[in-house]
Amino acid sequence: MAKLRKKIVMRLHPVCVLSGCPRQGKPMNVVLYEDGTYRGGHYFGRLLGRGRKGEYWECPSCYWETAAEWGKKVGGAGEAANA
Ligand SMILES: [Zn+2]
Repeated sequence: MAKLRKKIVMRLHPVCVLSGCPRQGKPMNVVLYEDGTYRGGHYFGRLLGRGRKGEYWECPSCYWETAAEWGKKVGGAGEAANA
């Protein structure tokens, strides 16, 4: 697959929301591209709903930890790697 050239449109500095995260309280560098993809963090805003409003971000290390936990629970179904 050819490597697409993506233009960076924005840089965000969200903070990982998971308690116990070594990066909690420290900004992550998340880069948004013009095609709507991003890297540097994982966004879960759409899954939000338990009394919290706003953006829900996890840093990559928390994301993969969570994904591994979910994988055990749901039998391996998960999102494709994006890191
Ligand atoms: Zn984290």
